Amino acid sequence: MKFGGALMKDASGIVRVGKIIEEFSCEPLVVVVSALGKTTNALEKCLLLKAGNGLEQAFSDIKLNHINIINNLFDDKVPDDLSSLIDNQFSQLWDALNTEYCSYYKKYDRIVGFGETLSSCIVTHWLGYKGLKVRRIDAAAIIYTDSNYTDAGIDWQYTSKLIQSRLIPVVDSGDIVVTQGFVGADKTGFPTTLGREGSDFTAAVIGNVISADDVTIWKNVPGIMNADPNKFDDAKKFSGLSYHEAIELAYYGASVIHPKTIQPLKQKSIPLYVRSYNDPVIEPTAITNDDSFDRQHPSIIIKEDQVLLSISTLNLSFIAEENLRQIFAAFSKHKIHLNMMQNSAVSFSVSFNYNLVKLENLLDDLNKAFTVKYNTNLTLVTLRHYDDELYNRIIGQSKIYLIQKSRVTLQALIKG
Ligand code: ASP
Ligand code: MG
Repeated sequence: MKFGGALMKDASGIVRVGKIIEEFSCEPLVVVVSALGKTTNALEKCLLLKAGNGLEQAFSDIKLNHINIINNLFDDKVPDDLSSLIDNQFSQLWDALNTEYCSYYKKYDRIVGFGETLSSCIVTHWLGYKGLKVRRIDAAAIIYTDSNYTDAGIDWQYTSKLIQSRLIPVVDSGDIVVTQGFVGADKTGFPTTLGREGSDFTAAVIGNVISADDVTIWKNVPGIMNADPNKFDDAKKFSGLSYHEAIELAYYGASVIHPKTIQPLKQKSIPLYVRSYNDPVIEPTAITNDDSFDRQHPSIIIKEDQVLLSISTLNLSFIAEENLRQIFAAFSKHKIHLNMMQNSAVSFSVSFNYNLVKLENLLDDLNKAFTVKYNTNLTLVTLRHYDDELYNRIIGQSKIYLIQKSRVTLQALIKG
C-alpha cells in the first residue's frame, strides 16, 4: 500500500492511515509512505535559499510543522525515542543544507529525501503505539539505484536481491513493513530520488519483486477519474483500466499515478487499485490487463506551469538531425522531460514542466549555439478519446501556442 502526503498532512490524516493499515493487517503488508503534506515542496524551496537569507526561517517552518503534527498525534506524550530521532534528522538536514555539493542535483537528492525519512519514522512509531507489529526498513537499504540524481534509475537485479534478503524475511515474520517512497541509494550509499511523485513507483518496484497479490494507492478521489474533480464537477470514475491506457493517461499528466508505476506491475500482471481513503468501501479502479473500460469516458488531463521553448539555428539553417542531437543532449543533461514537441524547417518547439534552476541551466547551454525564445505559465491540455464537442468545450476559444492530434489523443498548449 502507498499513502501520499495529501492524506498525511496532519495528525488526523496519520490516524486514518493507521486505521486503514490496521484493517488490512491480517494479511502480509508493506506500507510505502511519501513525505507529510507539502514537505517536499518546502525542502525544494530550502535548496534555493542561503543561510542568513531566509534559509533559517524555511527550515524552522518545516521542523515546527513536523513537531506540531507529532505533538497532536501523540497528545503531547511523544515517545522519547521518536523525539530524539526527529531531532537527529533535523540536525542532519541542517548540516546538509549548509554543505557544498558538487552539483545542485546531488544536493537535491541529499536534501529532499529527508521528508520521507521523517514521515516513515512517524508512521512506524504511530503503528507501534497502536499495538501493531511493525518494522521500518530504510529505503536506502533496499532500493538500489544509479547515480542519476533527481531521476535515478533502479538497478533491478541488485534491488531484487536486497528486497529478498532484507524485506521478505520481515514480512514473513508477520511484521508490517514501513518504508519510504521516492528515495533510494546509489553504489556509494549516497541518497538518490526517483523523480517527483515517485512514491507510487517505489510501491510498484517492491510489489514486483515480492510478487504482491496487489498494490493499492490510497487517494482522496474515489478511483481514477476522467478529469480532476477539483476542476471539473462532472468528473467520472473509471470502473477499470488496462495497464496500457493507464500508462498513457499517467504519461500525459494524470496526476493520480506516477507514469513509471505501471510497467513493473504489468510485467507480473499484479493489479493496481486506486482507492479512496475518504470512502474505503467504494469499489476502487482496478488497473489490470482488462481493457473493456478504457473507452468508458473521454479523459481531460491538465498540466499547468508549462514552458514553451522555441529553438532556431543562429543562421536560419535547417533544424536537422545534427542540431536535434545537440538539443536533445542538452535536455538530457539537465534532466528535463519533454511533454510535447514539434518542428518546422528552422525551429524546434518543446514544452516541459517549469523548474527555474533547470531552465536557467538549459538556456545557458542552448544559447551558445541557437536562438532560444520561451514562454512560461502555459497549460498543456490533453484529451483522450475526444470528439468535437469536448474539444470546443475545453479548448474552445483559448489562445493556442502548439497543437497536435492523433485519432485518439489531442494535445494543446494554451495560455492560462
Ligand atoms: N514526496 C515526493 C513528492 O512530493 C514523492 C511523492 O509524493 O510521491 O514528489
Ligand atoms: Mg509528496
